Amino acid sequence: MQSVFIVPELPEVEHARRTLERWLAGARIDAVRVQDARILDVGVQPARVVRALTGRRVIAVDRRGKWLRLSLEGTAGRVFSHLGMTGKWVRAGVEDDAVRFEKVRLDVTKGRTRRSVRYVDPRLFGRFVVTNEDLPIWSELGPDPLVDGIDVDALHAKLAKRKLPIKPTLLDQSVLAGVGNILATEALFTARIDPRRPARDLSRKEVAALARGILRAIDATLAMQGDGETIQYVEEAGADNPFTIYGNEGTPCPSCKRPLSKMVLGGRGTVFCVSCQR
Ligand SMILES: [Zn+2]
Repeated sequence: MQSVFIVPELPEVEHARRTLERWLAGARIDAVRVQDARILDVGVQPARVVRALTGRRVIAVDRRGKWLRLSLEGTAGRVFSHLGMTGKWVRAGVEDDAVRFEKVRLDVTKGRTRRSVRYVDPRLFGRFVVTNEDLPIWSELGPDPLVDGIDVDALHAKLAKRKLPIKPTLLDQSVLAGVGNILATEALFTARIDPRRPARDLSRKEVAALARGILRAIDATLAMQGDGETIQYVEEAGADNPFTIYGNEGTPCPSCKRPLSKMVLGGRGTVFCVSCQR
């Protein structure tokens, strides 16, 4: 199998949520270090982040779409984390030095266990925001397929108002939260829908097939990730392509064996089968 470039989408962020929940839910934050202030929003001083988080207890780790939210005990404090293209949360020992590309470090005590949780991000497209209220971008997200399920009628009604092709429409986070290039590509193949079709032309039956395709792709990716603490999802050596058609342009379609096509749609590379997807 060939290597493939994978950025975090819903399943990868859900995996991060599950590991962060294990590490942080119920834990007290003993110490905070901002290793690279560029991860903070412009104008935010690292000292403010340290002050806001030190001594606080994490009560929940939630996810909507590609965003993670840590809720803190007491006042309305919360932390929003977006992994961008290459972000990852990893665990280290409290005595360990900074790991490569480390941006933020949280040393915590959970029960009797002390551990250090680090946010690493080589390309620095992620975000780390400490705030007292939900970010507008979080509140404006569409339904999350895993948290809320997919209401086929509601999705059909929403798509009926969109004249853009279905593929870029699916990447709009107000339509469904967490769907990215990989999930959209895989789901459209499963549903046998041409990614170039105007969203509003899809029948209810096709929207239902698409919803099943999205949920199936999420389940498949989550199952593949397993229970390990870290997953390979960026240009990491030896990361094989585990997907049905994403990243497989030019290779035989798994269904009809004709070579898969690739085109740019809404600025994003899109693999599809011209004969299976109508
Ligand atoms: Zn085909």
